[in-house]
Amino acid sequence: MQFTKLRLTGFKSFVEPTEFLIEPGLTGIVGPNGCGKSNLVEALQWVMGETSARRLRGGEMDDVIFGGTTTRPARNIATVTLSLDNRDRTAPAHLNDHDELEIERRIDRDRGSTYRVNSREQRARDVQLLFADAASGAQSTALIGQGRIGWLINAKPAERRTLLEEAAGIGGLQARRHEAELRLSATETNLTRLEDVAATLSQQIDRLKRQVKQAERYRTLSEGYRRAEALVLQRHLVTRTEELEAAIKRMHAAEAVVEAAAAAADVAMAERLRCAEALAPARSVVDEANRRLDRLSSDFQTVTAEERAIAQQIRDLRQRIIQIDQDIGRESALLAQAMAARARLEEERDRLEQQGVGDLEAQERAAMLSQEAGEAVRAADAELNLSTARVAQLQAERSAVLRRVAGIEERRARLRRQQTDAELRT
Ligand code: ATP
Ligand code: MG
Repeated sequence: MQFTKLRLTGFKSFVEPTEFLIEPGLTGIVGPNGCGKSNLVEALQWVMGETSARRLRGGEMDDVIFGGTTTRPARNIATVTLSLDNRDRTAPAHLNDHDELEIERRIDRDRGSTYRVNSREQRARDVQLLFADAASGAQSTALIGQGRIGWLINAKPAERRTLLEEAAGIGGLQARRHEAELRLSATETNLTRLEDVAATLSQQIDRLKRQVKQAERYRTLSEGYRRAEALVLQRHLVTRTEELEAAIKRMHAAEAVVEAAAAAADVAMAERLRCAEALAPARSVVDEANRRLDRLSSDFQTVTAEERAIAQQIRDLRQRIIQIDQDIGRESALLAQAMAARARLEEERDRLEQQGVGDLEAQERAAMLSQEAGEAVRAADAELNLSTARVAQLQAERSAVLRRVAGIEERRARLRRQQTDAELRT
């Protein structure tokens, strides 16, 4: 297997994609200090599986990514691809399908690195083994870096042995043996763990067996329980069915009763309607009687008021009659006096007429007295006539008022009777 090409992108100072051809006969790289010679060697180490950032002159692995300069920003990805000529088919079996192998390592900032061989992802260990088989690798003495010669001269025998083994081409075998030993110890650990697991599992099996027995018992019991429950339910069903039938019978009977009651209710309703119809005329009679009673009450009140007014009138009239009677008495006394005066005057006249048949003076005096007496009598007469007429008028008025009182009393009695009748009727 020959290295044919190294391609770098974003690795250390190689920010732009750079191809470095490794042709037969290449013996060294020459350049000014700081031009990147050591970076190329480190790129080879890195792609072959270097795991130590310190050996690549960095603090952490991300330091291999181009870190930027004053004029260019930093990158986040670095890729190094190494091409191998595999025409002699010496690669491990699972990578031995192609004449050329392209081993690529890529690192993403903060996410670590990945390996691909001919675009198929591979484990770091596979890539490291590939180079170990070819007597190469990141730690290989085939790469003599800066200061490496001094290290070789001062190396301990054990370290020199590694160098010799590599030179003899058994580096890969050693690496494989180491890996096999690691696997063996891992398998032994696994075996121990498996024994533990088996012991745990056998305990679980015992427990599960016990649980199976319990489950079977439970199943048998629950079967019996279900059967018993079914029996109970069936018995319930029979009882309930009988109860239902009895209830249906009762319901039919109740329905018949309800029907009869409904018919009776219809009859009663018709009867009620008939009664209501019959009651209507009686009601109207009662209403009419009530109306009449109201009317009568109002008439009665009117009559009572009228009666009170008339009683007052009667009292007034009586008063006036008493007064008139007194007037009549006075007038009669006056009349009697006038009559007595006339009689006296007539007597005087007669005496004077007899005395002075020839005496003229006596005759004139008698005539004057007679005239005076006549006038006094006429005045008394006129007064008497007037009083008599007034008395007659007052008496007529009184009898008219008494008639009215009698009429009103009769009306009141009649109204009372009618009211009592009406009250009795309602
Ligand atoms: P010398 O002859 O002195 O050994 P050299 O040719 O080996 O020099 P290198 O050490 O390979 O040179 O390269 C050093 C250069 O690489 C320096 O200029 C340094 O700034 C640059 N460099 C190293 N790491 C990075 C990085 N991560 N990003 C950018 N530049 C880097
Ligand atoms: Mg250098």
